[in-house]
Amino acid sequence: MEVHVLASGSDGNCTVIESDGEAIMIDAGISCKRILSLMDRHGIDKESLKAILVTHEHTDHVSGAGATARKLDVPVVANMATFNASDLGNVQHWVYKSNQDLNIGQFHVTPLPTSHNAVEPNCYFTEVDDKKVLVATDTGKFSFQIEHALAVSDVAVVEANYDLDMLVNGPYPYSLKSLIGSERGHMNNIDTGLAIKRTMGENDHRKIFLAHLSKTNNTPDIARQAVSDITGIKRFQVDSLEFPGDSRIIKVRERSGPPSPS
Ligand SMILES: [Zn+2]
Ligand SMILES: [Zn+2]
Repeated sequence: MEVHVLASGSDGNCTVIESDGEAIMIDAGISCKRILSLMDRHGIDKESLKAILVTHEHTDHVSGAGATARKLDVPVVANMATFNASDLGNVQHWVYKSNQDLNIGQFHVTPLPTSHNAVEPNCYFTEVDDKKVLVATDTGKFSFQIEHALAVSDVAVVEANYDLDMLVNGPYPYSLKSLIGSERGHMNNIDTGLAIKRTMGENDHRKIFLAHLSKTNNTPDIARQAVSDITGIKRFQVDSLEFPGDSRIIKVRERSGPPSPS
């Protein structure tokens, strides 16, 4: 099982989870052309894609969703409010109610509500057999449910949007700074680090990937250092995209011991 972070940040977000010849996409906030070329570069078989799951209606999550769904002939999966708020054109769609689990091929997906300035935002926790992947961005805080998912995940793609000093002293207008820093905004490096620390287990085997870093209010080094300082996880073991256009393949490791309780 592999997690492909094709794009992450305010310029666009797109992640593909692939397992045994099947794949799901979480968000498609870059152009269809770019998604298709990144799928080629990552060796993801386009025929394997089952669905595009959308977290919320912001452009950096949906801009390529309609075109990609039409091109690859797959449904867009979202709750009704998000689907109605996203201008996707004529696409197959599969609407779920929040808190309703989804079975898409071999993927068991649990939508988890996030706290964000969107109509009905969610993130997604995906399980295949005993392998667990959390992709959680665009939230001002992690709910109990998200923290639980973070605790049991093998791979956690979690938001570390901003460094608080950079946001406060940066160029954004006060109203935008307030929104980003609010409970309906984004996670900062410290809060994400604390959440990772709170959910650490003995022999912690999680792979942590910091996502949705702000270009203006964060850098990969600052985010990684902050999370490393708080959690004690070695800096090089905390991953994130490094530069515009970067992408990443994260392998979900085979467990050697018994599966963790969920
Ligand atoms: Zn976003
Ligand atoms: Zn957003």
